[in-house]
Order: sequence, then C-alpha cells, then structure tokens
Amino acid sequence: MKIYNTLSGRKEEFVPIEEGKVSMYVCGPTVYNLIHIGNARPMLVFDTVRRYMEYKGYDVNFVSNFTDVDDKIIRKAIEEGVDASVISERYIAECKKDMEGMNVKPATTHPLATQEIDGMLEMIETLIEKGHAYAAADGTVYFRTRSFKEYGKLSHKNLDDLRGGNRSLLVSGEDQKEDALDFVLWKPKKEGEPYWESPWCDGRPGWHIECSVMSRKYLGEEIDIHAGGEDLVFPHHENEIAQSEAANGMPFAHYWMHNAFLNIDNHKMSKSAGNFFTVRDISEKYDLQVLRFFMLSAHYRSPLNFSAELMQAAQNGYDRIVTAVENLNFLMQSAAEGEESAAEKELEEQAGAFAAKFEEAMEDDFNTADALAAIFELVKFVNTNTDGEHTKAYLAALKKEIAVLADICGLIVEKSRELLPEDIEALIRERQDARKAKNFARADEIRKELLEKGIVLEDTREGVKWKRA
Ligand code: AMP
Ligand code: ZN
Repeated sequence: MKIYNTLSGRKEEFVPIEEGKVSMYVCGPTVYNLIHIGNARPMLVFDTVRRYMEYKGYDVNFVSNFTDVDDKIIRKAIEEGVDASVISERYIAECKKDMEGMNVKPATTHPLATQEIDGMLEMIETLIEKGHAYAAADGTVYFRTRSFKEYGKLSHKNLDDLRGGNRSLLVSGEDQKEDALDFVLWKPKKEGEPYWESPWCDGRPGWHIECSVMSRKYLGEEIDIHAGGEDLVFPHHENEIAQSEAANGMPFAHYWMHNAFLNIDNHKMSKSAGNFFTVRDISEKYDLQVLRFFMLSAHYRSPLNFSAELMQAAQNGYDRIVTAVENLNFLMQSAAEGEESAAEKELEEQAGAFAAKFEEAMEDDFNTADALAAIFELVKFVNTNTDGEHTKAYLAALKKEIAVLADICGLIVEKSRELLPEDIEALIRERQDARKAKNFARADEIRKELLEKGIVLEDTREGVKWKRA
C-alpha cells in the first residue's frame, strides 16, 4: 500500500509501527456552526482510508478530536448569551448527525479539547523544563521555535522568509516573543471567557497543543498516520511536530496525509460571498450518499469543485450501482436454488478481476476515482451477465462483490425496500389480474389511479416493478 507522505514529498510504501495495527489521528472541526461540505471532505476521505485498511485486515485505532474551545465558539456564545459549552455541545451533536448521514464511522475515540487540559499543562511544563518554551510577563507561554532544529520540515518552508513575512507581528504588539515564528501554547483569559488555572496565568490553551496531547494520550508518542486538510500543514501540523517531538524526544507521525480543498463553482468557499453550503443544506436536496460519492469521485490530493452538474453526475453514478443491486435482488426472488453451474463459476471468477482492479487503485495512495471506475465496470459486467435463468447462488455472489467494494467506499447500495400500504398492494394485484384476463381498460385505469397516488409502475421482462414518482 502506497501513501503520499507530505513529510517526504513522495509516495512511500506503508509500513505500520506494529504489524497488523494502524494508529491514525485526524484533526477534527472547530464546533461553532454546522459543518460545511469542505469540512466533510477530510471526514469522508479519511473514513474511506480507514475502511480500506480495515478491509485489508488492519486493526485501526482512529482518533479525531473536536476543538471545543476557540475564539469563534466564544464569540458565538457571547452573541447568544449562553455558556461556550452550550454552543460546542450543540454543534458536536449536529456534526455527529451529519457524520451518520454520510455513513462516516464514529472514531474509536472523539476527544474534546476541554476535557484534556491537564495533559496540555503537563506537556507545556515539560517543554519549559527542556528549554523549548518560555512564559512572558503576562503569563502567555510561547514555543521557542529556534530550539527545534527541524522546524519547517513538514511544510518545506524557508524559515528566514517566514520570519521576514512575520516581522510586522513583532512590531504590532506581539513583541514579548523572542522570535516572530514562536507560537502560543497558553494564553491569559479575557473577560467573560472560559479559563483554567495554570502555573503561568488563568487562561486557555493555544490550538496546536491540543492535538499533540490528545494524539499522545490515545495513540502513543509515535503514531502511524496524522491527517487533515492541506490548510493545516502550516502552521498547525508544523507546530504539532515541533511540540510533540521536542516534548517526547522521538519522531511523531510517520505518514502525514493532507486532502486538497473543495471549491464551489471554481471559487474558494466563503460565507461572505454566499457560495457556501453546509452538509445540512445538501441533505435537503440530495441523499448524503450522493455527496459521499461526489467526494470520492476525485483523488483526495486534487482540488475538487462542487457544482450542481457534478452532483447530478454523482447522483447518476450512485443510482447506477443501487439499481444493479436492486435488479439482483429482484432476480434472486425467483431464481433457482442449488449449485452454480460451471459457466456461472467461470463468470464469477471473471468478475473477481474488478475487485483486483479496485484494490490496485486503492493501494496507489487511495485513488478512489479509479476505484469507483472499477465498481462501474463490475456493475456493467453484472448487468450484462445476469437474467432470470441464473441460480440464486451466482446472483448472490455478484451482489456480495458489489456490496463489499461499495462498503469500503462507505456507500450504502442496498436501500431497505420500502413496504407499500396494503390498499396500494391490492391495486397492483388487481391490475395484474386484469391484465391476465386481458381487461386492459381496467389495467390502464388502475395504472392512472396509482400514478395519482405517486406510484409509477413498470412492466419488465421479469414482472411488475414500482417506484415513487
Ligand atoms: P476547521 O473546523 O476549520 O478546523 O476544519 C476542519 C477540517 O476541515 C480541517 O481538516 C480542514 O483542513 C478541513 N477543511 C476546511 N475547509 C475545507 C475545504 N474547503 N476543503 C477541504 N477541507 C477543508
Ligand atoms: Zn490538529
């Protein structure tokens, strides 16, 4: 399995620290609002990475935090006149609803920053003891960037350029810092803000320290994979590396994975420009499975553009898979029991080639676009090689192959068949009887009556099917 590692700037063979196990940390959202479809991209991408690894037999310890203390949360709490925890708890619950809708598995652990303050105080103290951090006169604690020789290794940035660019910060009142690149580990409280006691001042942690601490607590000092959106490479992940490696004295994450951004109609998503959708907005127009399909239709390291046309294409693609499974279910209802024929066994083996193609795509840095293409080829094969003459065993084997591959992508392809009210079922039966008796006038009348009730009938080779208008 090959993974593109931002740290080395190339694809590398994945070798876990412990055989058969994967430890993975994905930076989660700041919970002050409903999540938007940009936030959904890392959720869907890394959930799919996790699912593929589980399919390959790895035991995956998947940790993803909620940042529940932050300026934006506090601002919203002040606006509404409530406690910050009211805001964060509300949006964590909403985020979990959206995750469920998108069929994103809950993490093994979803730690909350506010529940991990003790660990943060401890790591900050270690950093001060080791000379990697210092407290300023007002109680702000900064990380001493110069003390960590490898600073910049993830983002491949030239530190002198960065220092030049940040010099204005020193001029604008942040002159308690020793160096323009020093960043905050702990900051003093402001009036009306949540705060915790510390040896330096009553205050709250900076953003970066929470991930170093939660990752260590739930996964250990050295982990396999750390992931998030590409905007997190600098400074967030660069700072996490500095904190963790300076405090623990060992390498932090072996593989750093970053998804590219999601844009809308070829523009950066922005609230002020009005080109901004929450996952909830999308769920009102589409099945969230369609959003999932859309996200996976591009490679995670390619920018992806959200548009109505591409969502329609995703809807069509997703429907094609669901319809193939529906057809198989339909054929299976009246298919012969008993063993597969030799010819069927041969076809089943041929179908196995698409699973191999799917895996090949996923092994190459999770190329979900090609993996979905392999599912389509399988669907086409299934559509051309199944009819009412086949055994149930053969049809079931093909169905299982589609379902297993779709499940790795987190796509639910088998909708539980909706039961129709008894009066409608009775009308459908009456129409079939009328057709048998060649009373086509009555049959047509019933078809119209059902249409008025929103049920469309379709007479197929295999029998009558219905769908909602
Ligand atoms: P935030 O709540 O801003 O910390 O973001 C949570 C996660 O969503 C991070 O991994 C971000 O990198 C990611 N993210 C935010 N906006 C986008 C976007 N437009 N496209 C892709 N990922 C994004
Ligand atoms: Zn983080």
